[in-house]
Amino acid sequence: MKLLVFGKTGQVATELQRRLPAGVQAVFLGRDHADLADTASCAAAIADGRTEAVINAAAWTAVDKAESEEALASVVNGDAPTAMADACAKAQIPFLHISTDYVFSGQGDRPFRPEDPVAPLGAYGRSKLKGEEGVRAAGGQHLILRTSWVFSSHGANFVKTMLRLGRERDLLKVVADQHGGPTPASAIADALLLAVQAMKAGAPGGTHHFSGAPDASWADFAREIMTRAGLSCRIEGIPTRDYPTPAQRPLNSRLDCSALEAAFGIPRPDWRSGLDEVLKELAA
Ligand code: NDP
Repeated sequence: MKLLVFGKTGQVATELQRRLPAGVQAVFLGRDHADLADTASCAAAIADGRTEAVINAAAWTAVDKAESEEALASVVNGDAPTAMADACAKAQIPFLHISTDYVFSGQGDRPFRPEDPVAPLGAYGRSKLKGEEGVRAAGGQHLILRTSWVFSSHGANFVKTMLRLGRERDLLKVVADQHGGPTPASAIADALLLAVQAMKAGAPGGTHHFSGAPDASWADFAREIMTRAGLSCRIEGIPTRDYPTPAQRPLNSRLDCSALEAAFGIPRPDWRSGLDEVLKELAA
């Protein structure tokens, strides 16, 4: 299978490059070859007559910065995937796109199901929701995979921030009233690669959830990072109101991933083993 992937340097795109199975060849387009702000060039990259499936692993992921630059975030996360999905529908090839828990309001404590009503709290969530709507409206075979709290050994993420701060300080205050599923980028890459092969074989796709288990708070996640990395830094849980940020975050980011497991046989990954892998890679 000839796969085209938007994104080259991001967490998920890097893991996709490392984990391609035999029989799948992929071209990865970085910002230098496909700027998502230029939606026509993204669509043109797909219409080459050779691509058999497309994964979009690129996105505007700066959640706070999106508050002050919503117009650009909306093009990158909304218009670009819409143009990609239109081009894939025309070419009759599957389009796989990654979305986020931030499309939900975060109210309640029940895990959100794919069909639950959306109500993003901020600009990033709105831009990602616009992308979802565009992908569905294109009418082609697609998978929208909503995930959360992504981490890996590369790029900027919570694990790497905690390790840096944990080496410098004895005590860290970390938000304890936001709950979700930390998700290894490697597991997202594996899920996408399994799904794309299933979709080439006729699986319909749709909108699905995929996040690591068990659900945790950021403070729980931080404690596990310190313990598994052998750092003595203590973690004090604080409420979100004591850690103000430009963008409001959902308190409940739990995702019900059972539909994905039923449709594709892909279970929730245990993020604690993913964390061990990442710590091993960072130590090497
Ligand atoms: P990263 O932030 O690691 O990478 C994002 C990638 O997108 C980078 O390679 C970046 O390129 C590229 N990019 C950004 N803007 C443009 C642009 N205008 N043109 C071309 N490329 C661009 O993202 P992740 O791998 O963590 O995220 C993958 C997906 O998962 C995204 O759809 C994201 O919304 C979603 N997601 C992520 C979460 C997280 O915690 N990170 C949580 C929930 C969902 P460059 O290196 O050049 O900037």
